[in-house]
Amino acid sequence: MAEKQWKTIKVRFCDHAECEVELEVEELLPEEFLPDQPPRLRAHRCSGGLTCNQIEKIACLWSGSNPLFDPFTEAD
Ligand code: SF4
Repeated sequence: MAEKQWKTIKVRFCDHAECEVELEVEELLPEEFLPDQPPRLRAHRCSGGLTCNQIEKIACLWSGSNPLFDPFTEAD
């Protein structure tokens, strides 16, 4: 059975959560008999997304409350 892992691809300071958060991607790793295959990317999430949803303010794309704002696309 293929293995899954969450990998950090970006780190940003989030003004809403007032801490550093990570944009993560879920990778489905290839089976051992297909070692040359790249991992499949299945989903993205913010490490602060669940906590963020408990705050009663509109946040961002990754919390599901504001699809027009993505803090991870902002320049460093
Ligand atoms: S989901 Fe959006 S607002 Fe919430 S912590 Fe992550 S980046 Fe910040």
